[in-house]
Amino acid sequence: MKNKVKEERQEAVEVICPKCRETRIVYFPKESMPICPVCKVEMIVKEVLTEGKYG
Ligand SMILES: [Zn+2]
Repeated sequence: MKNKVKEERQEAVEVICPKCRETRIVYFPKESMPICPVCKVEMIVKEVLTEGKYG
C-alpha cells in the first residue's frame, strides 16, 4: 500500500517578456520565472494554462 503520495501541483504558466513579447511555457513551482535571453529581464506571467480538472 502506498499512502505516501507526494502531491506537487504543477501549473503550466505562459510567461511573456515585457519588452520583446517573447513567450514561453514554464511549470511552477518546479521552474522559476525565466529571464528573457534577449533582453535579460525577468519575464512576467501572461496566462495560467492549467485547468483544475484533477478533481
Ligand atoms: Zn525579451
